[in-house]
Amino acid sequence: MATVDTLPHPHDTPQARRYNRVRRWLGVADFALGLALLIVLLVTGWSGTLRDLAYRAAGQGYALAVFFYVAMLLVISKAVGIGLDYYGFRLEHRYQLSNQKVGGWVLDQVKGWVLGLVLVSLLTEILYFCIREFPQHWWIIGWVVFIGLFIFFAQIAPVVFLPIFYKFDPLENDNLKQRLVHLSERAGTRVRGVYEWKLSEKSKKANAALTGLGATRRILLADTLLQNYSDDEIEAVLAHELGHHVHRHILKSIFVQAAVTFVGFWAANAVLRYAVDAQHMFETLSDFANLPLLVLVFTLLSFLLMPVLNAYSRSNERQADRYCFRSITSTAPFISSMNKLADQNLAEREPSKWVEWLFHSHPAITKRIAAAEAWTKANPAT
Ligand SMILES: [Zn+2]
Repeated sequence: MATVDTLPHPHDTPQARRYNRVRRWLGVADFALGLALLIVLLVTGWSGTLRDLAYRAAGQGYALAVFFYVAMLLVISKAVGIGLDYYGFRLEHRYQLSNQKVGGWVLDQVKGWVLGLVLVSLLTEILYFCIREFPQHWWIIGWVVFIGLFIFFAQIAPVVFLPIFYKFDPLENDNLKQRLVHLSERAGTRVRGVYEWKLSEKSKKANAALTGLGATRRILLADTLLQNYSDDEIEAVLAHELGHHVHRHILKSIFVQAAVTFVGFWAANAVLRYAVDAQHMFETLSDFANLPLLVLVFTLLSFLLMPVLNAYSRSNERQADRYCFRSITSTAPFISSMNKLADQNLAEREPSKWVEWLFHSHPAITKRIAAAEAWTKANPAT
């Protein structure tokens, strides 16, 4: 058997570098555009104009006016961002990574927008209800309610949100199911199900994920993965996802999210009070024309914390990888699955240090492969 040291270490193609660079710039442009829109709405007073329009349409009813205001805001934001969204769709085609037709893309945009309207208006109604009813402690009460909703959304995501965009079938492959049962038994845990994720309708890329909480906890394997990877390679991917499950990464991420959101609510309250009391930008806290200011606070906070949250995510990924190395008989299928994934998804194997630090939720593929090789060297008996 060949030792792992002799396996080839392919480098990034110019094509992969270009694709990832454009995608990064697309993300930055999208973020900057969103930020600019929020600032323009606040500085020009257009947010107040939208609020007045919303009141007129709602016949002075507060809750209905909030809904109309959010709807108008989301229409404007989509109108501003649709160009970049379409560019992103074209980009996937230019690099032969997409199977989606324009009609399907438009349908997804509509679905995404409606889902956004439902979720954002729900959160906004709750937020301004708290501000109106508990002007002193709205931010703590709002935070508690939001955490409850996050947990609820994480739970229903695989059965409510994901099926809006993708089809899922329980995994048919008995050999793989058997291997998962073995892996799970060895881990002393149980995952409720493994599902085939019909990704190929839209994309040529492969993917796998662990989603849900409690009864909805499940592993998703893209059909694009199941078709092109050996059972040993798929087992390695399964073992990695099981690693996330065993180490309770979803629950831990919710705790991290809760801490970040707490800081966000605290800062939002401080900024809002300053804007109302010192700057007289708004007459009251409950004037929902200040929503762009609240969103701005949360957006800036998540931008500042992005490197930290990505570092946390990368450490979870490393932990899941180590779990995988321990669970499978050889790390060779893990390494070959990593190489295949990099090729299929046109991923950058060795991004520059700052790109990885700033943008990547997963360690660079070269590093994951190197970790697998180091593990095999340190544990030759397995
Ligand atoms: Zn992972």
